[in-house]
Amino acid sequence: MIAALILSGYAALVALAAPVLLRRYWPADRLPRLTLALLPVLTCSFLVAAVTSGLAVAVTLLSGLSELDPALDACVDQLPLADTPTGALLGRLALAVSAGLVLRTLYCLVTTFATARRRQAGHARMLRMLAVRDERLGVLVLDHPAPACYCLPGGDIVITSGALSRLDGPQLEAVLQHERAHLSGRHHLIIALATAVRRTVPRVRLLSYAEAETRRLVELIADDAAVARTGARTVVAALAAIGTGHAEPPEATLGIGSSPLLTRVQRLLGLDRALSRRGRIASRAAVGVLALLPVLLLTISARSLLRECPPDPDDAGRPGAAVVRVVTR
Ligand SMILES: [Zn+2]
Repeated sequence: MIAALILSGYAALVALAAPVLLRRYWPADRLPRLTLALLPVLTCSFLVAAVTSGLAVAVTLLSGLSELDPALDACVDQLPLADTPTGALLGRLALAVSAGLVLRTLYCLVTTFATARRRQAGHARMLRMLAVRDERLGVLVLDHPAPACYCLPGGDIVITSGALSRLDGPQLEAVLQHERAHLSGRHHLIIALATAVRRTVPRVRLLSYAEAETRRLVELIADDAAVARTGARTVVAALAAIGTGHAEPPEATLGIGSSPLLTRVQRLLGLDRALSRRGRIASRAAVGVLALLPVLLLTISARSLLRECPPDPDDAGRPGAAVVRVVTR
């Protein structure tokens, strides 16, 4: 039961506290890549902790499972709920919740990725009929007055004629570099994973926060790649030119104007206020600790589940109790 308490406590703590603490104290805008690595650690460890805490309850309270390990079985016999109808009911319930969560996670992963793939394939078919490839730029040009630019996971970058008419040479390079960063960073997959995990357990603040942050952070990372090539002012000008149009990128694609522009512009203009070296080291160390913590808790939980059982005080005075314990092991 200690294992179940440790794991469920971790799951509850990370689900409730992580979004609040990250929003208030974590410099995500200055560390977009590190934060993008941290978010799946938190969400996946939440799911793993939720599943394994249920399994720990089931293994403890279902006699068929607890008997698999003699040390565990000896400990279980000391629990008040052991071998009672209530204990068996709780064990079955915990097992059903864990199995349901595993199946739900698999279902959400498969359907989210399949839906995204279907939409992207449909959009690619439409583009083959409507868009014209510009061999010089290496992009597909869609004849539309609204300025927009986005990329598809297959590697195609799509830009409208409206965007081409508004952007000068360096701004166009900034926009294309932004989209190339999405493609090389496999941002479509990262977003699809965050979406699938968010769907597994509805209304868990951590999961919805992680998905929204993932969508926002990939834009910041792509902006940074464009800044490295063309400079911040050019990227800001490109964002202004694209963002003042009203074309929304299609679903399951990543467009340069698909995230709140004002905050991105403010960030780009303040990029020189980078985090100090000490701040970066401390942040990396914090992410390392947060990544190791669930592994450590899982190890402690497993050891506590299978540890040597303390002597049962009820048995202490009974003649032959020690012999019975040895035989039952
Ligand atoms: Zn983008």
